[in-house]
Amino acid sequence: MQMDRRSWLAALGAGAASTVAGRAAGAGEAACPSGDGPLRLQDFRPRSMLHAKETRVPTPRFPVIDVHTHFTFARGGRGGAAPDDAIAFNTTAKDALAVMDRKGVRAAVNLTGGFGRGLQQAIDAFDRAHPGRFHTCTEPTWGAFADPRYSQLQADAVEGAARAGAKGLKVLKALGLYLRERGREGPLVQVDDRRFDPMWEACAAHRLPVYIHVSDPEAFFLPIDCTNERYDELGHHPDWSFHGKDFPSHREIMEARDRVLARHPKTLFVGLHVGHDAENLPFVSESLDRFPNLTVELGARIGELGRQPRASRKFFEAYQDRIFFGTDAVPPPEGETTPQQVFKDELYEIYYRFLETEDEYFDYAPAPVPPQGRWRIYGIGLPDGILKKVYYENAERLLGLGA
Ligand SMILES: [Zn+2]
Repeated sequence: MQMDRRSWLAALGAGAASTVAGRAAGAGEAACPSGDGPLRLQDFRPRSMLHAKETRVPTPRFPVIDVHTHFTFARGGRGGAAPDDAIAFNTTAKDALAVMDRKGVRAAVNLTGGFGRGLQQAIDAFDRAHPGRFHTCTEPTWGAFADPRYSQLQADAVEGAARAGAKGLKVLKALGLYLRERGREGPLVQVDDRRFDPMWEACAAHRLPVYIHVSDPEAFFLPIDCTNERYDELGHHPDWSFHGKDFPSHREIMEARDRVLARHPKTLFVGLHVGHDAENLPFVSESLDRFPNLTVELGARIGELGRQPRASRKFFEAYQDRIFFGTDAVPPPEGETTPQQVFKDELYEIYYRFLETEDEYFDYAPAPVPPQGRWRIYGIGLPDGILKKVYYENAERLLGLGA
C-alpha cells in the first residue's frame, strides 16, 4: 500500500477541519487538544520525567571537518536526471562560515556541487573564495545516461571536474532508486551497472573519493502501516517510500553496491549515512571488514546510532580510523523540512553532545517531535583519541590535507 500525504493526514485525523485548541502554548510548552475524544498520535507530546543530566556542548572538544553538507544542489539533480548543468545555491559562503565559526567547524565538504558550469560556479563561490574552508564535490550527469557514449562521457567529466578543483564524486540515492534507462522512464538502472565502471575507475585515477548514498533506511522499503517505525517521517515525505512498485529490496541494493566495491578496489568509497544501514551495525561492520576501500560517515543517522549506544560505542572503537564526522546539513529554509539535518547551531550541538557526553535520553534533532521516529538517544562519550580521529584526523587524510 502506498500512502500519499493526504491519506496519511486523514489517517492521523488531521486535515482542514482539525483544530488544536486547549491551553495557549508558551515557550517550550505544547498545546494539548481539548475535548474528550481519544488522543491522536500526532498530538502526543510526552515530556520526559527523567531527571537526567543535560550537558550543553556549544563547541566541539577538537576542530571539526564536516564531510557531508549540501550548500548547493544541481538543479533537478535529485529526481534522477538533471536537465542541464545549472546549480542552485542554498546559502552563501558568508552565511555558512558564520555557523561554522560559531560551532568550531574548520572545513565543510559540499557534496552536491553539480557538474560543468554549475560546478565551476560552486567552486568559485566557496572553495576559491575561502581556501581551506570548503571542499566541493562533483555529481554524475544522469541526464546524459541515455546517450550511447555515456560511459566515456562520464569518465571524462570526472577528469574534467578533478581538473576544475572538485574534491570527490557524490552519488545520490538516485542511483538504484530513481534513475531509469530513459531518464525517468524504463527499468531502474542497477547500482552495479557496467556502464558506470569507467566512472568509478576515473575516480581512482584522479584520487577523488566517491561519497556514495544508495538505498535508504530499512523501514522505507516496508509497507507504511502501524508497524513501520518511520510512519511519521514517511507521512511527511511519501516520496521516500520504496515499498512495492518495481523497487528492489534494501538487501538487493546492498548486494549490488558490494559488487561495485569488489570490482573497484582502488576506488575509495565513503558509505554515507553509516554505510547506508545504521540500523544494522553488524552488517556495516562486516562490509568494512570485507572491503578495505570502504569507509563510513554519520550524517543524519545519530537517531539510529544513539538508540543503540553500546553497540555504537563498540563500532566507533573498532573502526575509529574509518569513520568521518558528517551531518548531511542542508541550510534553511529548505533544511527546516528535515530538522535532523538542518544547518544551524543546534544541530551541531546535538552531534557534539552525542559523541562527547554520556547524557541520556535526549533529542537527536532540533524539533518538537523527533522527525525520523519517536525515540530519543544516548551519548556515547568517546575518548579523546577516537574523537580527534572522527572529528578531523580521518578527514584530513581523506581530503589530502596536512603534511
Ligand atoms: Zn546528503
